[in-house]
Amino acid sequence: MHEMSIALGIVNIANKACEEAQAARIDSITLEIGKLAGVQLESLYFVWPAAVEGTVLAGAERIIEEREGQALCLECDREFALQHHFDACPHCQGYFKKIIAGKELNVKSMAFTLPDNPVPAPSKTR
Ligand SMILES: [Zn+2]
Repeated sequence: MHEMSIALGIVNIANKACEEAQAARIDSITLEIGKLAGVQLESLYFVWPAAVEGTVLAGAERIIEEREGQALCLECDREFALQHHFDACPHCQGYFKKIIAGKELNVKSMAFTLPDNPVPAPSKTR
């Protein structure tokens, strides 16, 4: 499952961050996920417990910040909210656009038990 490999990727990032910070485990992890990133949140929630079991993320609070899709129309040069990849521009009905937000898939931050409080995670974009 697609979301399982995403979850395992997040576990990898968390492992590395824990090693670097010499922390035993993670208290909370904040993920930034765009609505156009192609991630089914329900599926991610579903696979999460199995993915984090026995890892540094077991028991960590999972915070997800969803990002709305935003595009710039290449025909009329206006920005608009994008719900789906193939939506047309609401101003001119044009289909040529540049997606400027909504494809995020990042580990935004993690909070460790040791040594101190929130350490910014290395931002990783797929
Ligand atoms: Zn337009």
